[in-house]
Amino acid sequence: MTLKRRAFLGTGAAAMGTLAAPTVFAAGHGKPQVVVVGGGAGGATAARYIAKDSKGEVGVTLIEPTRQYYTCFFSNLYIGGFKEMGQLGHSYGGLAASGVNVVHDWATGVDRDSKTVALAGGGSVPYDKLILSPGIDFVDGAVEGWDLSAQNAMPHAFKGGSQTELLKAQLMAMPQGGTFAMVAPPNPYRCPPGPYERVSMVAHYLKANNPTAKIIIADPKAKFSKQALFEEGWADHYDGMIDWIGDDFGGGNVAVDADAMTLSIDGEVTNVDVCNVIPAMKAGHIAELAGVTDGNWAPVNAADMSSKADADIHVLGDAAQQGDMPKSGYSANSQAKVCANAVRGALTGSKVFPAKFSNTCWSLIDTNNGVKVGATYEATEEKIAKVDGFISATGETAELRKTTYEESEGWYTGITADMFGA
Ligand SMILES: Cc1cc2nc3c(=O)[nH]c(=O)nc-3n(C[C@H](O)[C@H](O)[C@H](O)COP(=O)(O)OP(=O)(O)OC[C@H]3O[C@@H](n4cnc5c(N)ncnc54)[C@H](O)[C@@H]3O)c2cc1C
Repeated sequence: MTLKRRAFLGTGAAAMGTLAAPTVFAAGHGKPQVVVVGGGAGGATAARYIAKDSKGEVGVTLIEPTRQYYTCFFSNLYIGGFKEMGQLGHSYGGLAASGVNVVHDWATGVDRDSKTVALAGGGSVPYDKLILSPGIDFVDGAVEGWDLSAQNAMPHAFKGGSQTELLKAQLMAMPQGGTFAMVAPPNPYRCPPGPYERVSMVAHYLKANNPTAKIIIADPKAKFSKQALFEEGWADHYDGMIDWIGDDFGGGNVAVDADAMTLSIDGEVTNVDVCNVIPAMKAGHIAELAGVTDGNWAPVNAADMSSKADADIHVLGDAAQQGDMPKSGYSANSQAKVCANAVRGALTGSKVFPAKFSNTCWSLIDTNNGVKVGATYEATEEKIAKVDGFISATGETAELRKTTYEESEGWYTGITADMFGA
C-alpha cells in the first residue's frame, strides 16, 4: 500500500516536473527556491516544514545570524529559577541535517525586482518566495532616557539569550530590601502576558532570597492580559510586594536615567536597583528594509501570510500585522505551518489546505501554579479572525493549576521539536 502510494506520488511529481515546475513555478531556473529570514518560532518552523514536506522539490535557505537560538518562551522560568539557560538553547544542526541550507549571517536588504536577499557577509541569495520572520525591534525614543546604548544598565530581556542572563544577574545582585522596576510596553507587543509572568517569577525569586524587596511596574496600559489571574496570584503569593501603576495613575508618563538608576513616573523620581525597560516594539528592521511594513508592522493576507505589498514575500510571527492573534511563539509556529503549506502549493502545485490557526499562552505564577489563555482562529478576507477562546478561571484548585503547568512543559518540548526537528 505504502509503496503504491509512493509510486503514485513519484509519478505525479515527475509529471509535474516535466510539464510545469521549471517554467511556471520557478521562473525558469529549475528547482524553486525559498529563502527564510530569521530562525525563530516562525522561520525555523516554516523552513523545516517546506524542506520536509517538499521532499527535495524545493530548495530552502534559512538566514539566521546566531548559531544557538535561546527561546524567549520559558525565559521567565529561568529568571524564577525553574529552568537552566542551557535548557532554552537550540542549535540549527537538526534543520541542516534535514535538508535546510542554514546560512549564519544577517540579511541586510531585499531587492524585490531581482528577487535576492543581500547578506552582511557579502553576496546575495536568490528566491522565488521569501519568508520574513525577523521578530521584533524597538521603537526609537519610546521610553524617554532609554535607547539601545542603555540596555546593559537597563535590560529589556525581550530578546532571548544574553539579555535574559543579564536581567537575572542583576536580580541576584539586588541589595536586600531593594527595588526592582519594570517599564511595561504599550500594545501591541510580543507575548501579552510576558511582562506579568516575569513579575511573578521575579517575585518568586525575591520572596525566597530578598523578601523585603519591592517591585514597581510602570504600565502605559489601563489593563493587561490575564490581569485577574495575575492579581489574584500576586495577592495570594506575593502580598504587598508588587505595585502596579497603570495609565490612570501615570504609568504611561515615564522617563528613566540609566546613569543615575532612576525611574520617573508622572514626574515623581524613584531610585531603583534594577530597571527592566521593555519599550514599544515594531517589526524586525529587515521587514522595513524589504518595504513590506506600514507603520510599525507588516500587513499580511490571512489565508497564506503573504505580504499585502508583495505576493512573493510572506511575513510571519511577531513582525506581521495579521489581525486577532497575539504575538507569541505558538502563534508564529501556527502561522508558519499555514504559510509553508501555501508556499509549497504555489511552488510545486501540491494541495493547499484552508488556513486554520491556534494559540495558547501559559504563564507560571508560582511553583506548579500555571494559568493559560488561548483561542482558535480562521482566515477571513480582512484578517486572521478569532473563532473561540478560553482562559483559566480565578480560584482554580491547586491540582488544576499543576496540570496546567505540566501542560506547558509538554508544549515547550513539542514546539521546540517542531521548530528544530527532534
Ligand atoms: C519574556 C518572554 C516570554 C515569552 N513567553 C512565551 C510563551 O510562553 N509562549 C509563547 O508562545 N510565546 C512566548 N513569547 C513570545 C515569543 O518568544 C515570540 O512571539 C516568538 O519568538 C516570535 O517568533 P518570530 O519568529 O516572530 O521571532 P523570533 O522567535 O524572535 O525569531 C526571529 C529571528 O530572526 C532573526 N533575525 C532578525 N533579523 C534578522 C536579519 N536581518 N537577518 C537574519 N536573521 C534575523 C533573529 O536572530 C531571531 O532568531 C515570549 C516572549 C518573551 C519576551
